Amino acid sequence: MVVVMGMARSGLAVSRLLREAGFDVFASDVLTDPPLAGEFERDGIPSETGGHSAGALGRAAEIVVSPGVPLGIAPLEDARRRGTPVISELEVASRYLQGDVVAITGSNGKTTTTALTGRILSVGERPVQVGGNIGTPASSMVAASRAETINVLEVSSFQLDGIRTFRPDVGVLLNITPDHMDRYATFEAYRQSKLRMFANQTGEDHAVVNRDDGNVFPLPAAVRSRRASFSRCQVLEAGAWVADGQVVLDGTSVMPLSRVPLRGAHNVENVLAALVVGGVYGITGPAAAAAVASFRAVEHRLETVATVDGVEFVNDSKATNVDSAVKALESFSGPVIVILGGQDKGGSPAALVRAMKGRVRRAVLIGAAAEMLEAAIGGAVPSRRAASMAEALDLALEPARPGDVVLLAPACASFDMYDDYAARGDDFKNAVRSYAESRA
Ligand code: ADP
Repeated sequence: MVVVMGMARSGLAVSRLLREAGFDVFASDVLTDPPLAGEFERDGIPSETGGHSAGALGRAAEIVVSPGVPLGIAPLEDARRRGTPVISELEVASRYLQGDVVAITGSNGKTTTTALTGRILSVGERPVQVGGNIGTPASSMVAASRAETINVLEVSSFQLDGIRTFRPDVGVLLNITPDHMDRYATFEAYRQSKLRMFANQTGEDHAVVNRDDGNVFPLPAAVRSRRASFSRCQVLEAGAWVADGQVVLDGTSVMPLSRVPLRGAHNVENVLAALVVGGVYGITGPAAAAAVASFRAVEHRLETVATVDGVEFVNDSKATNVDSAVKALESFSGPVIVILGGQDKGGSPAALVRAMKGRVRRAVLIGAAAEMLEAAIGGAVPSRRAASMAEALDLALEPARPGDVVLLAPACASFDMYDDYAARGDDFKNAVRSYAESRA
């Protein structure tokens, strides 16, 4: 019997996949009423809710954990002591996926780069599927996969923690900055989990890495993969880089930087990474350029919501850690009024305060981290606290002048106030839209 821990989307997908493959599956969740319990029941997958029982776990030949389940919890420690393999949904899915796997990870930029890579590869002859963390769980991509398919997967560190044999044909590591420090004991432990991307690769596989990130490059000598890299800051001997205002792939100019339709230097890195992957599959030059040029920001990632009376409103609710919020702030030269806060994930706010200085007209602080952020900001920039998104927007509008940007870039998780970052982004967008209507 295989026990699937976590009865949400990826748990359901992997349960179905395993059952299809002939295994007895038993699902288990700590919640008493997990939202998808009905689906498990309809599919006839036996389950327990309200906790993981020793009886069920004791009978498991393998335990598949969903990304939301911390690997350090006691029932899993016990299982490991008994010698029961504890693996991730990605590990299971990769055993059955046919065709190539392009896996993309990093602390930030995964979704954007995964979507971009999918767009570029779709220009080629081979069928392309995009999924993983970005939407469709990898387990749900198995059925449609064929030998010629390229499966582009967004992969999180939690998924990588539970791999054993997962071996992507192309593994991309965008960056490593502090994130999820509530789940990892040390930054180094988190970094090692990201580097597992390459653990099973051989000399036939590609490792695509960011040359500008000292936590990523150089890769440990033990990594056997073919190296490919990208850099925004230096000219490389191969890979993708920026020179003289041009985006360059393997020495040939692909497009002017000015045609990259995404905001911010960090997005240039995402484009470079996606272009390197395209290059691995022979997609270069004008075809790659056209794919990039037609790409639009993914929702909740530096998404312009509206411009009202010369003030631009930008939703970057997905900036859930310090580095992504810093990158968001750095994408604007003009005065910014930033809405920050939520559930702290344990990164140091010092870099955030540095990025705010000289740029931020007012910081509006929301959620559980408001007090901590207020203390970190000190008097570096003017700040105010708000109890709701509507109040945050009101406080953001007070000092706003034409040419300013009102930016939601929380640097925190959303779970203290919302179901997820998308609900937070939607709340912001709705508040902005009502304001826009009131001014129309
Ligand atoms: P992820 O899937 O890794 O969370 P997203 O593409 O959803 O990545 O972007 C998450 C946040 O990080 C957004 O706020 C986005 O603006 C920012 N971001 C995107 N790419 C990068 C990058 N390469 N480096 C730093 N921040 C980034």
